[in-house]
Amino acid sequence: MSLKTRFLLLAACLVLVASAAAWTVFHRITEGIIEQWGERVAAIQVQYDSGRLLQPLEREIALARQMADSIVLQRWANAPDDPELEGQAFDEMESFRRNFRDNSYFVALRGSGGYYHNNAAGDYTSERLRYRLRPDRPADAWFYRLIEEGRDFHLNVNPDVELGVTKLWIDVLMRDADGEILGVVGTGMELESFLQEIIDIQQPGITTLFVDYNGAIQLYRDRRLIDYASFIKPEGQKRTLDLLVDLPRDAEALSGIMQELRDAPDQQPSVRTEFVTVEGKRHLAGLAFLPALGWFEVTLLDLETLMPLGGFTPVAVVFVLTLLVTLLVFHLALRRQLLAPIAALEAAMQRVKEGDLSASELPRGRGEMGRLMHHFRSMAEAIQRHTRDLEERVRERTEELEAVATRDVLTGLMNRRGMQQWLEEQILRATRESSHFGLLWLDIDRFKELNDGLGHAAGDKALVRVAEALSDGLRPYDRASRWGGDEFLVILSPCDAPTLAGVAERLRHAVAEIEVEGVPVTISVGACMANPGEDLDLLLKRADEALYQAKADGRNQARVAV
Ligand code: GH3
Ligand code: MG
Repeated sequence: MSLKTRFLLLAACLVLVASAAAWTVFHRITEGIIEQWGERVAAIQVQYDSGRLLQPLEREIALARQMADSIVLQRWANAPDDPELEGQAFDEMESFRRNFRDNSYFVALRGSGGYYHNNAAGDYTSERLRYRLRPDRPADAWFYRLIEEGRDFHLNVNPDVELGVTKLWIDVLMRDADGEILGVVGTGMELESFLQEIIDIQQPGITTLFVDYNGAIQLYRDRRLIDYASFIKPEGQKRTLDLLVDLPRDAEALSGIMQELRDAPDQQPSVRTEFVTVEGKRHLAGLAFLPALGWFEVTLLDLETLMPLGGFTPVAVVFVLTLLVTLLVFHLALRRQLLAPIAALEAAMQRVKEGDLSASELPRGRGEMGRLMHHFRSMAEAIQRHTRDLEERVRERTEELEAVATRDVLTGLMNRRGMQQWLEEQILRATRESSHFGLLWLDIDRFKELNDGLGHAAGDKALVRVAEALSDGLRPYDRASRWGGDEFLVILSPCDAPTLAGVAERLRHAVAEIEVEGVPVTISVGACMANPGEDLDLLLKRADEALYQAKADGRNQARVAV
C-alpha cells in the first residue's frame, strides 16, 4: 500500500471518528430538543383535546346531574304508576330532552325496572316506556352494576341493543333525600358523530384517544378497538391501551404513568410524556388524567411525520461535503508537502545512481523536506567534487604512466614502444590521406669502442648528447626516438624526398660536432620515404638496408633507400 493510500485512509478514519463523535453529540442535542419540544406539544395538545372533549361533555353531565336531582322525577320514581306524578315527570323529562345536546334522554327506574327514553325526533312521546330492565339479561348488566357499585356518575360507550344505537352514555345515579338509589338517568350522544367531531381530527401525525380509569379504550379513530361496555367486562377481556403499543416495555411504562397520574394528590391536570413505538414508528405519547370524567386523554405524536428526518438532510450533506473537502485538502497538502518532494528526491537518487551527479533540478522546499533535499543536494555536490578530483588524479597518473611507458629514461626521447605507436599512426594517416612521411634510422659508429675505451658512463653521455643534437635539429612536427642501444629512429612528417635527404645530412653533421672526452662521435643514417599503404616491417627493412649501406660505405654517411 502506497504512502498516499495509507495517509488518505488514516485521514478518512480520523475524520470518520471525529464525525461519529460530533454526530453522537448532535444526535443527543437534537434528541433533547425533540423531547422538550414533544413534551410541550403533547402538553398543549392534551389540554386542547381535553378541552374539546370536556366542553360539550361537562354541560351534558351538569344537565344529567340536574335531572338526577329533580324532585319531580324522584317523587315519580317512588310511585311510577301514579298517573299525575307520571305526567309531571314526563313534562320534566321533555324539558331536559330539549336541553340535552342529543335531544334525547333516558330514565331507568330501580323499582319497576322501567326504561324510559325519547329521541330527538320525539318518536316515543306517546310510548316513553321503551322496555323493562331485567337483572338476568346481559345487555342490562350496566344498570345493575352501576347501582351495585353506587357510582354517582359514569361515562359508558355502549351499543343499546333495544334502541339499535351506539352511544356515549352519561349515566348519573338518582337518589332520594336519604341517599337511596332510585334509578339511573342521563343522556347519550351518538358515538359516530361525536367521534367525528372530537377524535377524527385531520391533524397529520397527531392521534387523540381517550381511555377509561383502567386504560380501556373509549374513544378512538379505529372503532374496532373501542372497548364497548368495558364497565361490565372482567379484567383481561378489555381492549386497553396495551393493544396500541408494539412493545410490552412501552405498555408497562404507560400503565405506570397512569398509576402515577391517578395517585397524584392534588389531581392537577398535569401531562406526562413517554417515547413509545406504535405500528413500528417512534411516537411521543402524552397522557393526562381528567378527574371530571375519570378518563385519561392520550395524545400520540408521530415524530417522523411531525419532525421528518428529511429536515436533517442538509446536515448530512454538509457532513459529507466536509468529509470530501477535508480529504481533498489533506490529499493536496500531502502531495505538495510530502509526496512531490519524495518523488523528486527519488528521481534525483535514480539520476545519481545512473551517474548524473547534478542534483540542481531538485526543488528547494521548506521545513524538514527542504532540509532533507538541501542535504541530498550538498551530498551530491560533494560526491561530484570528489569524483572530479579523482578523475583528474587518475588522468594525471595515467599520463605519467604513459609517459614513463613511452619515454626513454636516459635521453628523455620517445622510447621504442612510443615510437612504434607513433609509426603505426603515421602509416594509417599516410594511407588515409595518401601522404608521405620520411624515416631516418641512425646508429652511432663504433660505439662499442667508445664504451670500451672511455667507460659505460661516457657511452651514456654520448647517447645523451646525440639525443640533444637530434632534438635540436628537428622541426616541431618531427619526432625523434631512441630505438634501442645506440640506435635512433626519426620520423619526418610531412616530408618529401629532398627534405628527407637534407634532414639526414643535417643531423649527421650536427652529431659530428660532438666530442665526448676528446673523442669525436659520428652516426650513420639510413633514410627512406614511406609510401601510402606500405607496412611497418617493410619500411623498417628498407631503412635498415640504407643504414647498412651507410655503414658499409665507411660510416659517418647518410644513405637514402630508393
Ligand atoms: P658499428 O659502427 O658497426 O655500429 O659498431 P659498434 O661498435 O657501434 O657496434 P654496435 O652498434 O653493434 O654496438 C652497440 C653497442 O652499444 C653495444 C653496447 O655495449 C652498447 N650499448 C648499448 N646500450 C648502451 C647504453 O645504454 N649505454 C652504453 N654506454 N652503451 C650501450
Ligand atoms: Mg653502432
